[in-house]
Amino acid sequence: MAEKITPAKTEHIACAVCLKDIPASVAFSQEGDEYAQHFCGLECYDKWKQQQTEEPEGNDKG
Ligand SMILES: [Zn+2]
Repeated sequence: MAEKITPAKTEHIACAVCLKDIPASVAFSQEGDEYAQHFCGLECYDKWKQQQTEEPEGNDKG
């Protein structure tokens, strides 16, 4: 029986662009229409913004 000791577990989230694991405390959050996106930095945030401006192809929305 091996007991795992997890002191001060920090919540980690994945960057929406590079999918890098980052602590929620330092994550750059951006409020979206439905949910918030998280980024490791402004660099990824900028890339994400550009993707949002691009019109999605084959968007079959009623
Ligand atoms: Zn990133």
